[in-house]
Amino acid sequence: MDTDLLVLGAGPGGYAAAFLAADRGLRVTMVDALPKPGGACLFVGCIPSKALLHAAKIITETHEAESWGLKFAPPQIDLNALRARKDKIVDTLASHLAKLCKDRQVTWQQGRGTFEDANTLAIDNGTKVRFKNCIIATGSSPTQIPNLSIPSPRVLDSTGALKLESTPASLLVVGGGYIGLEMGTVYAALGSKVTVVELTGSLLPGVDPDLVRPLYQRLQGQFAKIHLNTKVAKVEEVTDGIRATLEGPEVSEPQATIDKVLVAVGRRPNSRNLGLEKAGVAVDEKGFIKVDERRRTNVSHIYAIGDVAGEPMLAHKASHEGKLAVEVICGEPAVWEPRCIPAVVFTDPEIAWAGLMENEAKKQNREVKVARFHWGASGRATTLGRSDGVSKLVVDPQTDRILGVGLAGPGAGELIAEGVLAIEMAATARDVALSIHPHPTLTETISEAAESLHGLATHLYKIKRTK
Ligand code: NAD
Repeated sequence: MDTDLLVLGAGPGGYAAAFLAADRGLRVTMVDALPKPGGACLFVGCIPSKALLHAAKIITETHEAESWGLKFAPPQIDLNALRARKDKIVDTLASHLAKLCKDRQVTWQQGRGTFEDANTLAIDNGTKVRFKNCIIATGSSPTQIPNLSIPSPRVLDSTGALKLESTPASLLVVGGGYIGLEMGTVYAALGSKVTVVELTGSLLPGVDPDLVRPLYQRLQGQFAKIHLNTKVAKVEEVTDGIRATLEGPEVSEPQATIDKVLVAVGRRPNSRNLGLEKAGVAVDEKGFIKVDERRRTNVSHIYAIGDVAGEPMLAHKASHEGKLAVEVICGEPAVWEPRCIPAVVFTDPEIAWAGLMENEAKKQNREVKVARFHWGASGRATTLGRSDGVSKLVVDPQTDRILGVGLAGPGAGELIAEGVLAIEMAATARDVALSIHPHPTLTETISEAAESLHGLATHLYKIKRTK
């Protein structure tokens, strides 16, 4: 079988690339081990986790409604129905993608592909594909740690946790990163006693502390315990559960027995067992495929995008790279030059940021102006009972240009898009301040943060009156 473009891996990076290439008139073949396009994001990641987080939000809101004079009976959770609803959402989206694939006449091949040389891929369904160009978009998998990822039905990775087989009475979450906190939030809402153990001194290490603080405070009320600066050194299966050994300066009980463990200590690129060496494609010491600013590997007609081509491992970064690679293949002068890649942690509150944050600016010794707007001063946040949020702007002191936007609060994942646009369009804080934001909405927290830099904020009082 001959093709202009082979796309290996049909996640949000791979299918975005395949669809654009087909729209540009190329003959495209897309290969994936799963039965339909969608990848880890659709089948075992972003989408099912967001469906479950939506259910968690409903549960939490019924608990909190009492303070509004609305008393609900405790929710009765039908785990089978919840699982079926989540699976239906995934199936609907996967079927839509499969239809788009067919409509665009992208040739679909289900199976595992390995390179035989720099122009041939062998698929384990018996097909061989000869390609002119190739985009590798094979994604990533959960990191396995020998003492933690033991073969036991009680020890889960993110895929296992999303299956929602049961609600364990107690769940130990190893890793206070994206997955640990999102899935910890789901299981805590369903009724599990959740303990999070994080190796470093902060949840979501590397994220601006002003954004993490409101999340940490709220999770302390929802989780049984959060251990920071603590390592889960070992887990063992015992008769009544899993025994975990914790190590750290603040650990008072080094051993705990729990029902289930979720290991969420990061992901690694899927670059092994692809036959990359036969194609001559180089990887770095972490296993990421090396690419240039056009997403070309060292073999000039083979490209790599998404998680397998480097951090951050985010679906929207993969999609953008996929389209870029197709433009390059079509001979356009495209390069990878986003001003920012937004990140969202879908906890409650949501945490979202884009561009340069204050902690990074400090590390770089870069002088910046910072504006913070605490949501206690927002009418909309107060009507939602969520004055715990914060909006933050990082601005260049010379040019007034917005360099970074950080948000913590419900809906932060939606609100961050304004920040992305502002950064990409080289908006100044004054531009944002002078753009009329609708009232009463949470978007005003961004415009008021911008206004505060120019002494214009209505709901913040900073300047001392002299007369
Ligand atoms: P992560 O890197 O976000 O967090 C892993 C955490 O585990 C780190 O904080 C690390 O310090 C800690 N850790 C490592 N070893 C440990 C040990 N032995 N004991 C205790 N803690 C330990 O990784 P993740 O949560 O597995 O997610 C992987 C990637 O998937 C993310 O980096 C992100 O790119 C992606 N993801 C994104 C989203 C989203 O966009 N909302 C959601 C889920 C996953």
